[in-house]
Amino acid sequence: MKQNATPDGLKAGPSYEEEHFTEATRIPMWDPEVDDVLVCRQVRQETHDVKTFLFSAREPRVFRFYPGQHMTFELPVEGMITRSYTISSSAARPYRIEITVKRVPGGPGSNWMLDNMMPGKEVSVSGPTGEYTTDATQDEKLLFISAGSGITPMMSMVRTACDLAGPTDLHFIHAARTPADIIFRNELELLAAQNPALKLAFTCSTTSAHNSWMGYEGRLTLQMLSLMSPDFKQRKILCCGPARFMEGVRTMLQGVGFPMEMYHEESFDFGAETAGSFEDTIAAPEISNQTYRISFTKTGHVVECGPGMTILSAAREAGILPLASCQRGICGTCKSQLVSGVTDMQHGGGIRKREIDQGKILICCTTPMSDIEVEL
Ligand SMILES: Cc1cc2nc3c(=O)[nH]c(=O)nc-3n(C[C@H](O)[C@H](O)[C@H](O)COP(=O)(O)OP(=O)(O)OC[C@H]3O[C@@H](n4cnc5c(N)ncnc54)[C@H](O)[C@@H]3O)c2cc1C
Repeated sequence: MKQNATPDGLKAGPSYEEEHFTEATRIPMWDPEVDDVLVCRQVRQETHDVKTFLFSAREPRVFRFYPGQHMTFELPVEGMITRSYTISSSAARPYRIEITVKRVPGGPGSNWMLDNMMPGKEVSVSGPTGEYTTDATQDEKLLFISAGSGITPMMSMVRTACDLAGPTDLHFIHAARTPADIIFRNELELLAAQNPALKLAFTCSTTSAHNSWMGYEGRLTLQMLSLMSPDFKQRKILCCGPARFMEGVRTMLQGVGFPMEMYHEESFDFGAETAGSFEDTIAAPEISNQTYRISFTKTGHVVECGPGMTILSAAREAGILPLASCQRGICGTCKSQLVSGVTDMQHGGGIRKREIDQGKILICCTTPMSDIEVEL
């Protein structure tokens, strides 16, 4: 064991770190401000249209993330696009990042991932980031409700809770199209068998005569919910899935007087009106009541930006269509260079500090606080 040298040259005993930590824990931390490349190490087929991709850094790194957080990937398709994917692996297995991607018909990002990402390939990423999380080893009574690929944040939370000490009291309801579409089914059943505090229920909207399906059938209804989680009104509920699914859950809960401050959701669908969670990540922008002028230095356009308007909205109103995706300061697609002026940016993790220091902004969540020039 190494000895620590004291300032006067005398040999001191081993440090607390050396005494109490194994070599493995001395692996450097993944620093999102510096590290930005993941290497694919393994691909697993989960269902016919879903794959899990296991990544680690080029050199071993310890990833620190909260279960439920996501990373944003730069994918070399149609030039370059960015897409966010929730980490599906356990936060208690910090040397790896797993994401689980569902093929969206016609979608460039998911199709590229499923058809091209393979062991050895590298990908630029940012994150982990995001506020959608809960501590299933601490929170008293939880109910997770997910559908489709919305299972990924829940899976990370369940895996983390089971890896740490087991969930305290967790009901987990997942809705899928058919039994064959249930992502992580075997692992979830095993976890539920090993952890009495985890109660699991699946419902499938379509079942066929070929499958010996013993679970619930049909879309999630209030009656079903009451059977799957009889005390659901006393639970903190986390929901993730397609916008219409979450809308249905929300309406159902509101209809029975559920205290909605106990309901939290995450949307993967930026286009939907419901995008965002109830405890959203982004603070309200500082609203100036003045109109400012924005000059786009590449196109030569000069536009007026009204009170509270983002640079992206002002550009669109003027007929300019900059690349943008999430409109919540998460994905990084609209990252641009501020040439001059003062702005207020309320981002959701889609930009690094070092980029902000270089004058970069996400125009979807930035409002001018003076006349400004933007490289666009
Ligand atoms: C915070 C966050 C976390 C995410 N985590 C995951 C994840 O863990 N796994 C995953 O598969 N996807 C996840 N997504 C969605 C993902 O970022 C992409 O939107 C998705 O892969 C589709 O991209 P695309 O380029 O193939 O299609 P796009 O061209 O982006 O989308 C095509 C159409 O499909 C809709 N759509 C987008 N995503 C989905 C979806 N998941 N299911 C159904 N319809 C969809 C879009 O609204 C659009 O109408 C997440 C998104 C966000 C914002």
